[in-house]
Amino acid sequence: MANRIDHLGIAVRSLAEAEPLFRTLLGQECMGHEEVASEGVRVAFFQLGEARVELLEPMSSESPLHKSLEKRGPGIHHVALQVDDVPAEVARLKAAGLTFVGEAPRPGAGGCQVAFIHPKSAGGILVELSDGAHGGA
Ligand code: ZN
Repeated sequence: MANRIDHLGIAVRSLAEAEPLFRTLLGQECMGHEEVASEGVRVAFFQLGEARVELLEPMSSESPLHKSLEKRGPGIHHVALQVDDVPAEVARLKAAGLTFVGEAPRPGAGGCQVAFIHPKSAGGILVELSDGAHGGA
């Protein structure tokens, strides 16, 4: 079961260029930065109540996010749902016929477990499952 939206992942070409816009838009300062080497991204996050907005910048042209930006440009990249038990949810959804991107679950930022449901299985939306241990990407 999904409990709440953990964060929105927003693809940007450059954190340095996008952060001022989101500081203005959200009326607050960025809460921190993180590198998630496993996903090839640098993250800047803003806290919005229980949820966060995460700006994602590709670390290199090898990053899957780089390819996504080439194809679709900047914008909403994924929606992350907070679940209590990522492996259990992955098993439940796999049994229901949904497919995942890459290895699922896998370690995300901040010691949490994450899994990405393929957009073809989720109404065209890349959905991340996270245990919400304040990581992700
Ligand atoms: Zn994420």
